[in-house]
Amino acid sequence: MWEASSRVAAKEPHDNTELIRQILQLRAEQAALLGKANFADVVLERRMAKTGDRALKFIEDLQARAAGKFTEDTEELESFKAKQTGLAASYLSPWEISYWSEKLRQSKYAFDEEELRLYFPMNRVIEGLFDLVNRVFGLVVEAVPVGEVEVWNPGVLFYKLKNTAGVHLGSFYSDWYPRESKRSGAWMNYLRTGDVQPGTKREPHLGLICGNMTPPADERPALLTHREVETVFHEFGHLLHHLLGEVEIKSLNGVNVTWDFVELPSQIMENWCWERESLDLFARHHESGAAIPEELFAKMIAAKNFRSATATMRQVSFAKMDLLMHIRTNDIIATDNIETTVREAIKDCLVRTEPKTPTASRRFNHIFSDPVGYAAGYYSYKWAEVLDADAFTRFQKEGVFNAQTGADFVNKILSRGNSADPMQLFRDFMGREPDLQALLVRSGLAA
Ligand SMILES: [Zn+2]
Repeated sequence: MWEASSRVAAKEPHDNTELIRQILQLRAEQAALLGKANFADVVLERRMAKTGDRALKFIEDLQARAAGKFTEDTEELESFKAKQTGLAASYLSPWEISYWSEKLRQSKYAFDEEELRLYFPMNRVIEGLFDLVNRVFGLVVEAVPVGEVEVWNPGVLFYKLKNTAGVHLGSFYSDWYPRESKRSGAWMNYLRTGDVQPGTKREPHLGLICGNMTPPADERPALLTHREVETVFHEFGHLLHHLLGEVEIKSLNGVNVTWDFVELPSQIMENWCWERESLDLFARHHESGAAIPEELFAKMIAAKNFRSATATMRQVSFAKMDLLMHIRTNDIIATDNIETTVREAIKDCLVRTEPKTPTASRRFNHIFSDPVGYAAGYYSYKWAEVLDADAFTRFQKEGVFNAQTGADFVNKILSRGNSADPMQLFRDFMGREPDLQALLVRSGLAA
């Protein structure tokens, strides 16, 4: 299976190499016409990173800081396999990495994620989330009685969001459970942006959050996995970004911000799913009401960062490959074998294996299946994580329920949409530019 999948888009008559060469060439031409040094600069001019070089510097910095732990991860896995099989330690084959890392995970953290479900009944999670945003952001969520507002399915609920002064900021629908006709995944949509003229007028906004969470079954309430809880919090963060908007120009409200900034309000919410203090608000056993036992909590935290350097490096390898192809385009397309050239440039980010793994260059849908898509933008996944990890350190220092810090986050980030440069918004909240360190700490890559 691995061998077959590694040949996807890499073998005639379906080899994408020449298409990639052509796409990169055309993008470089477009950049030249626009007076830019490369395509990355064209795309990033209107993003937070501003230039391709700056994004690349960020990714290479992350690479350098994860490198030590990345090597440790690999060596640990090689010696684990050697011990288990009685063979001498050697490079693993690419197709056995997942197998041995799962064995290693089980041996280090005998931890069943299903055990956690019992502590996450859906209703309680939602109540806890509303309680949290009340304490931290001063918001009141009111359920509108069923029947008062028309909905498209009996499972859909409707809510009003107010501030503590009683001002109606927005409303939203929630639609959490799967059904036949529904698309998969979880998402937030904004349905209506109210007219907001600060000081004179404020129409409420309207939004929607949807998901496909584990539904209730027979006698049992809906019990969520921890990942599903994070997803609920995540989508609620996007929703707040829209509903709390105080932007005069509608098209600049809420989530209409740059790609490398849009996940800050959503991802920061996930942090409250990992703090003991906030977990205790909503993580309660569905029968006994008990909080998560300390031992289970410790396991959950330890397991979170298992092989995180390897996961980080995988994202770094994609981001670096993407940026290099859109910065050093001419050098890359001039070579006979694009795959060999690209692989050489990112080889330090790849897990050493025997045989060597090809890169994803020829089936990199994110950057080639669309006129722009994620081209020169793959770095934004990690960039956004830096923003949310860093911004959350203010809550860790000042208190995870600190209402003053929460009000600051609302006033300086959530209510501002795209009405100011995102770097300025971040500086307004943190008093400085983003710092990579917080993400390294959160991922267990630095103390
Ligand atoms: Zn998101």
